[in-house]
Amino acid sequence: MCDIQGAGKMPFFDAKAQYQGIREEINSVIEEVLDSGRFILSQRLGGFEKEFAGYIGAGHGVGVGSGTDALCLVLIAAGVGRGDEVVTVPNTAVPTISAIRQCGATPVFVDVDPASLIMDPNRLEKLLRKNTGPRPKAVVPVHLYGGAADMASIMDICSKFGVKVIEDACQAHGAEYQGRKVGSIGEAGVFSFYPTKNLGAFGDGGIVVTDNGEMADRLRLLRNYGQKDRYHAVTDGFNSRLDEIQAAALSVKLKHLDQWNSRRRRLASLYDELLDPEAVLKPVEPEGVSHVYHLYVIRHKEREGLQRFLESNGVSTLIHYPVPVHLQEAYRFLGFGEGSFPEAERASSEVLSLPIYPELNEEEVEEVSRLVNSFG
Ligand SMILES: *Cc1c(COP(=O)(O)O)cnc(C)c1O
Repeated sequence: MCDIQGAGKMPFFDAKAQYQGIREEINSVIEEVLDSGRFILSQRLGGFEKEFAGYIGAGHGVGVGSGTDALCLVLIAAGVGRGDEVVTVPNTAVPTISAIRQCGATPVFVDVDPASLIMDPNRLEKLLRKNTGPRPKAVVPVHLYGGAADMASIMDICSKFGVKVIEDACQAHGAEYQGRKVGSIGEAGVFSFYPTKNLGAFGDGGIVVTDNGEMADRLRLLRNYGQKDRYHAVTDGFNSRLDEIQAAALSVKLKHLDQWNSRRRRLASLYDELLDPEAVLKPVEPEGVSHVYHLYVIRHKEREGLQRFLESNGVSTLIHYPVPVHLQEAYRFLGFGEGSFPEAERASSEVLSLPIYPELNEEEVEEVSRLVNSFG
């Protein structure tokens, strides 16, 4: 999905540097799991689920195999199935759509707000108002880049139309919207622990958080073959569990998350200060958002040239995302052509993600900023 280390001297993300900082702690908990001989659905997972749900401010956490599975399973638990419609944005990672498809539903798109690049509540309201067929079963706003969607408006609109909100918070561990952590505002929130995320495992992982106890119970069935106890299946199920080794490592890392996020904020504000506002446009956040800068994204008219220029100067960058999901080959059958969602399409040709991770230093941010400004 995204390549971790670019060819340049300054990588886009540095998983090894993070590990070096917490090596002893991580090695010792992993060793404990190895010694325990219990690898699936045991104490480490239960512990981490409580810690993470508590951190987000939700009643329950259910650890699963990936962020994609988290979204798919929570949609199923929310009653979404074959033939149902789920509303999301075209400017997101493909897995948002994979999850919607995997539970048998059809994605319906609302374009993003041109300033924030996230779900535009006005367009959402228009879509729900003009909808004549059966109502979409759920709306999935994506807290893109580590920011937050305009949840106050989205929750208002969705409650008016009786549609459930499931937050895709896979890029936004710890981000806040009007004082609440994202993932705790809708019916449920999903997070990914893909290694490059702000809270990343040593492999795949994901979690659903929710205040709805019945939904959490249902998710616990769904992730474990639909079994209520060993050998008794009560519903169609899956095998998708966050394993004990990942849960143990994530418990260690969760203790560092706030500090890592504030370091990301510090580096982002340095970029904000140094980058020439004449040369680059930055996405504008809705009111009351505390961003965690999973990505630091700029917009530039000559994005390809700028990316090549930075690469030739040893700076790795990535594009999130170069092809909006409605124009992906896999989703051609949905029938959307170019021009269907102009804001997402424009964003896809202009956005560029600069290196940002807690171990990056100020001098490196200064160097990248100097290079971007000199490109003009
Ligand atoms: C990473 C990501 C996902 C999927 O997470 P996986 O753990 O890789 O399955 C879903 N949505 C968004 C917005 C993401 O960034």
